[in-house]
Amino acid sequence: MPTESLPKLSMYVGGEWVPPAAGEYIETVDPFTAKPWALVPRGNAQDADRAVRAAHKAFTEGPWRTMHPSLRGRIIQRFAELIEENADALAEIEVRDNGRLLAEMRHQIRYIPRWYHYYAGLADKIEGAVHPCDKNALSFSRHEPLGVCVGIVPWNAPLFLFSLKAAPALAAGCTLVMKPAEYTSATAIKLMELVEKAGFPSGVINVVTGFGPEVGEPLVTHPLTRHVGFTGSTRTGAHLYSLAAKDIKRVSLELGGKSPNIVFDDANLDNAVRGVVGGIFGAVGQTCIAGSRLLLHRKVHNEFLEKLTIFTKTARIGDPRHADTRIGPIANSMQFEKVLGYIDVARQEGADLVLGGKRPDIAECRDGFFIEPTIFAGVNNEMRIAREEVFGPVLVAIPFDEPEEAIAIANDSEFGLAAGVWTSDMRRAILMSERLEAGSVWVNTYRDVSYTTPFGGYKKSGIGRENGIEGIREFLQTKAVWLSTA
Ligand code: ADP
Repeated sequence: MPTESLPKLSMYVGGEWVPPAAGEYIETVDPFTAKPWALVPRGNAQDADRAVRAAHKAFTEGPWRTMHPSLRGRIIQRFAELIEENADALAEIEVRDNGRLLAEMRHQIRYIPRWYHYYAGLADKIEGAVHPCDKNALSFSRHEPLGVCVGIVPWNAPLFLFSLKAAPALAAGCTLVMKPAEYTSATAIKLMELVEKAGFPSGVINVVTGFGPEVGEPLVTHPLTRHVGFTGSTRTGAHLYSLAAKDIKRVSLELGGKSPNIVFDDANLDNAVRGVVGGIFGAVGQTCIAGSRLLLHRKVHNEFLEKLTIFTKTARIGDPRHADTRIGPIANSMQFEKVLGYIDVARQEGADLVLGGKRPDIAECRDGFFIEPTIFAGVNNEMRIAREEVFGPVLVAIPFDEPEEAIAIANDSEFGLAAGVWTSDMRRAILMSERLEAGSVWVNTYRDVSYTTPFGGYKKSGIGRENGIEGIREFLQTKAVWLSTA
């Protein structure tokens, strides 16, 4: 289809659908067909300024912050119901944008409303405190919303990660400017139709689109922005952290990982195989929590790799809309090249290729950005392939003998997002959960994330926590009030 006949999407600012200030657009490409299907506005600093001002106006002049929090909760609940009703349509768009499996995206988007329900319920349960003081005074504190919050999200789970930021921020009484990733903006834009229907006052939620440096940075550095919530690479996160530091802005960063999945010799190996496969090949490895290092007890090393290879080979690779597909395409061409580059790195470093390592030789996969699920053995933790985040379907196996050795290898990483432990010995499970440097430790399970449970990283994997009660604190600041009766 010629570019000019593709549908042109709009940004959503101050309750209105607006074109980009410079009139420029970015093609958004279906990773299965490798063909563009829509045009997304290419925003710039002017668009960012307009959106932050709209959010600031809604915060300072609108009713959102001052209305009874239960009323705010009711609007958020209504929004959740609308997402529920439109989940399948949103899932179709998401798949067109990032190539994730349709069945998985339907499941994920049907799960999103729970975040809004949970935080809507929390909105009127934010309570302050009365503090002891020794003079004729009353000292109390209350938690107030921070103000304009900027949310910058990546392409791997666009609407889900949007909602992890938006739900608590809205419940806290903040207003929002969201920037989806440049190649997966369509669902965030579609969602704004539901924002209108739900009855949010105009300017409470705004969406601007475009490239990070062009429109994301001006959002972060804008003097009226008070909070920056970012999910993405550690490199970009560190850059945004330094920009936010100039104005002492609050940040929440959910960044990269190189998470270990540690399999002991007493584990139920069949369960562990399923968990390891879901951990690394789910979403074709394009998740921050991907279990990309497999630490194998030497006693079960060969047996486990054999089971793993047999199980992985059964996964259907192909059209993400086909109900039986387990491995879809990589989300975009840059990521595709990056993953192939890392496979070369592993080969050059002397890792032994056990499975995959190339584009699949399947007619259905001819056009799209497909890479076979890839497993390397004979890896040591010093190799680049064991240290750097690939963000693709590449698993490296590292042997160990003693639990202490497994802990040392697991913790020898600049990241600390998650870890998996597979064992039938609960004493060992507890020890591992204490010693692993990771924001989430899963025992005999992997990739569990819930709105109730804090999620975030140790070390270079991030700052702050999403989900649960901790999640809303990121968007609140405490004010102490002293009342003197003298
Ligand atoms: P990835 O490498 O996974 O694409 P990024 O961290 O580069 O991850 O991107 C995640 C999000 O951050 C995207 O929405 C992207 O547009 C945005 N982004 C990238 N660079 C910048 C930047 N310099 N300033 C603001 N946002 C950025």
